[in-house]
This record gives sequence, structure tokens and C-alpha cells, in this order.
Amino acid sequence: MYVGHGRCACAGITMGKVLHIKTPEMADTVRTSKTIEEELSLFESALGKAQAELESLITKAQQEIGAEQAEIFEIHRMMLDDPDICDNIRERIKQGGINAADAAIAVGREQAHDFEQLDDDYMRERAADVKDVTSRIARIVRGGEAVTLTESVVIVADDLQPSQTVAMDRSKILGFVLRHGTQNSHASILARTMNIPLIINANLPKSLDDSEQGGTAAAEGEDCLDLNGKFIGVNAATGTFYVEPNEATITQLQQEKDAFDQRRIRQLALRGQQGISQSGHRILTFANIGQVDDVEQVLENDGEGIGLFRSEFLYLGRSTPPTEEEQFKAYAKVASTMNGKIVIIRTLDIGADKKVDYFNLPEEENPAMGVRALRICLMQPEIFKTQLRAIYRAAARGNIAMMFPMVTRLSEVTEAKAICAEVEAELKAEGQAYAVPKIGIMIETPAAAILSAELAHHVDFFSVGTNDLTQYTTACDRQNQNLGKFYDPHHEAVLALLRLIAQNAHAAGIPAGICGELAADPELTDLFVEMGYDELSVSPGAILALRERIRASTTQCQSELSNARVHLGEIIKRH
Ligand code: PEP
Ligand code: MG
Repeated sequence: MYVGHGRCACAGITMGKVLHIKTPEMADTVRTSKTIEEELSLFESALGKAQAELESLITKAQQEIGAEQAEIFEIHRMMLDDPDICDNIRERIKQGGINAADAAIAVGREQAHDFEQLDDDYMRERAADVKDVTSRIARIVRGGEAVTLTESVVIVADDLQPSQTVAMDRSKILGFVLRHGTQNSHASILARTMNIPLIINANLPKSLDDSEQGGTAAAEGEDCLDLNGKFIGVNAATGTFYVEPNEATITQLQQEKDAFDQRRIRQLALRGQQGISQSGHRILTFANIGQVDDVEQVLENDGEGIGLFRSEFLYLGRSTPPTEEEQFKAYAKVASTMNGKIVIIRTLDIGADKKVDYFNLPEEENPAMGVRALRICLMQPEIFKTQLRAIYRAAARGNIAMMFPMVTRLSEVTEAKAICAEVEAELKAEGQAYAVPKIGIMIETPAAAILSAELAHHVDFFSVGTNDLTQYTTACDRQNQNLGKFYDPHHEAVLALLRLIAQNAHAAGIPAGICGELAADPELTDLFVEMGYDELSVSPGAILALRERIRASTTQCQSELSNARVHLGEIIKRH
């Protein structure tokens, strides 16, 4: 049994036989034995058939999934009239030596590459469309039919084209496991609209064997194993899939599936409802995100806001830091997609397990306690200023707040705020459009928790990072798997600090939230209601379960909330 992992783009659990769809490739043998005229005529006739296929796809999409999604295929139909695509294919054929199918694929690749280089997200998405259109032409030239499903299958592919997704018989698609893809790709959007479990960025196997992992994952650029006909189990909620699962795994997946399906039906009914306990305490149910395209999942699960945007993910996996413009676009996109709902951007939290080379940080014996997060920003203010400028500018485009990670004392907050004031003055002098965001802090060190009464008078809100708070309070490295029960977020000391933080926030009239993993822990929801927490921020897929749990809570809130509530109302309704 091979156990693979990826990211959830549409939650759900499913099992079945694999249909492995390969991306059409250019032939690498003899390219054509026909004359140029014959190839041109094959192309023209394929163009006509492609038009006809798209006509019926548009009607099918309009009837089955809605006018908005049908527009994708309108775009494809328009592309068939686009001289940049069709004339280019004709030119390629006229140069000789290439068949019509390969010419279409080659032009599709080039044009897609050009789209992928563009700044505009909308235009970048067109790359998938142009590939879709040209591989349709190639398939027709080669005499292939659109994929027809004769039995229920789990579709495995490198990526899926929107038209492939819609053209298939929905009732026979059990799920998707894709090697590439993004939350925002058409295929993901369509899968969510059709509510089909979908894993993207899946590490498909290169080989299966009898080892503990059950095989080796294919590296980037390497071919993966043909999984056609193999049995696969998919838990898209956790992003895990099992190729040729054993009996025990099948039984476990079936149980998880039954429970998931029942729960999901109940929880989806809570969209548009509020998280109010039986005793009347309202807790906002927010989402944690790491990437711009995670927002789709937040909206799908009715997140009332984003309680933690881990902005450092924009900095990881690259050789230079993101520019002000890149960051501005990312933040503005999240804010505009959230359409007035609050987005709390956590400023750069590089360090510890999140490393980049380009800040030239020293190697450290103990990086979790080293130069990280706000410390880097205060030591290298230029890095901080670039991010602050982007945040202030994006705040003019939507409801953005920000918070600083890893605070330990007031002087760090005042120093950070002084840099914010400099940034504001600069933007003003330049005549840039900007807005001043509300400023909160993460409480994730015992020092900040102990000093929270004082800190609360200098910030607009608190958000507790229980992952680090547990690490620093219990002196247990959160990365160390050997610590077992010793890394315990339920530790009495952590819970005592959580109570203290909420009390001190409310005494100063500011709201308190939690954005660490503990926020989603159903065993503690009653306690959070009792402590009076105002907001809990969890992964998008966990929002509705949390809301359901809050609504079931009968605990009385013990905290004095009134001023914090007024303040919270101001923050979340800014726009
Ligand atoms: C936390 O520490 O709880 C937190 C939310 O931040 P991160 O997990 O990103 O360190
Ligand atoms: Mg943290």
C-alpha cells in the first residue's frame, strides 16, 4: 500500500478504481507522412468538430452547473476563432514536417507559457484554457473521443482541464487526485462546485514496493507510475491517499467516509449561521490561510474572516524576498476576494522551521529561540518596511488588520509601531493610496501572556498562538516527535495563561482570539466559551465543525466582555 499526500481542494472521502488520464504529449517518433495540404485539412475539420463539441459543452454546463461556469467554455469557443492560436497552428503546419496534432500542442504550450508569465491572475488562468483548447484539437485530429466514463472511477492526472471535468458524467466521478493544480484553477473550482473530493499537489508514486511507505514518490519532472485500474482510497479532507490499500485501511476509510458524509450534511446547513453558544456567547469563526488561493476554501466553508494569514509563506521557496508590489497584489487579492470580511495579516514570521537564505541569518543552535519573526523585522527594518508598505496600501482596498508575531514585551510593540508610523509618513508624502490597519499582536510567548494586562492598552486585539505558547511554556520543542505527551497544549499552565490573556484583553476593552491549532480542539470549545474568547481561527475545512461545536455549548461565559465587543464590532465592520 502506497500512502501519498497532497493538499485538500475539496474535502470528502472516497474509494474506487483509478482512471489515470495522461496529458496529451507530442509524438516523438515520425511526425507526419502526409502532405501539408492533408494536415491543413485535418486541422480545419478538427476545428469544426471542436466548435460543435464546445457548443454542447456550453449547454451541458449551463444546465448542470450554472451560467458562470459555462462562461469558461464560451472563452474556449472564442479561442477557436483567435488568429494568435489558429493562424499559428496553420503556420506551423505550413513549415512542414509536423502533423496537425503536434502543431496544436506545440502552439498551446507556447501560448500557455506566455500567459503564465503575466502579472494579472485572470490572464494567468488563461494558460489552462489555451492548453485545453489546443489539446482538444489534437485529440480530434488523432481520432480520439472525449473521455467517456463507463464505470465509477477516481480520476488521477497531472492536472485536469476544465472541459474534461465538465464533459465527464458527474455521477461516475468518485474523486480526483492531481499531481499539480491550485485551489483557484478552473478544475478545482468546478470540482468544488460539483462537490467532488479533490486532492491537488499529490505526490503520486514512481514505484510501488513492499517497503514501509509502500513505494517511492515521483520527483518533480519525473514520470509517475501508471495507476490505471488500481484501487485507491482518498481522504481529501486530510489530503491523504492510499494506492492498493490493505483491508484495515479500507475498513477505516469506510468508517471515516460514513461519519464524514453525515457530519458534512449537518455542517453545511450552518453556512450563513453564527457561532452562538446555548448561553448566548457569540464567537466569530475565522480561518487560517497560508496562500492567496486558500481563500476559496474559506468562502466555501463560510469563514467570517481570516484570523491568520501566514504571510511568510510568500517568502519561502525562493531566492529573493517578494517585492512590495508582489505582496501588495497578494494582500489586496485576499482582501477583495473576502469582500469586506476582515483579513488579519500576520507580519513576517521567518525563523525556526521556516528558513530562507536571502536574509543572511546566522546558523543557530536553537532557532526556535533565535532570530525569528518580529526580531528579524526590528533588526532589519528595511525588510519590515517593504511588507508594511504593501499592507498599508492593500488596506485601502479591503478590510485588512495586521498583527506582530513573537512579541515578548511592550518596547518591541512600540518600536514596531514607530516603524509603522514612518511607513505611513512615507506613503503620505508619496501621495500613495493607503489606509491604517488595526494593529494586534500574537500572544505566543509566556512573557507576552504574563504582561498581557499592560500590552492590551497598546494594541487593538490579541490573537493567541497556542502552538508556540505551548512550546515555550512547557519547554517542549514543537518539532520534536519524541516528546510525545510532554508537548501538551492542554497543560494546566497553558490553559491558565489562556484564561489570563482573555481576562486582560477584556479588562482593557479589546477582543481576544486564538489562531493556534488548539482553536479547533472540540474538547476545549466549552472552556473557550467560558473564558469569553471572541474569535477562533482554524483551517478552512474545520470552520463549520467548530461552529457546530460552539452552537452546542451550554457553558456560561465568565468574562466581562462589553467594551471588547464594541471594539470587535468596529474592527470587523471597518469596510
Ligand atoms: C502559533 O504559534 O500558534 C501560531 C498560530 O503560529 P505558527 O504556528 O505559524 O507559529
Ligand atoms: Mg507561532
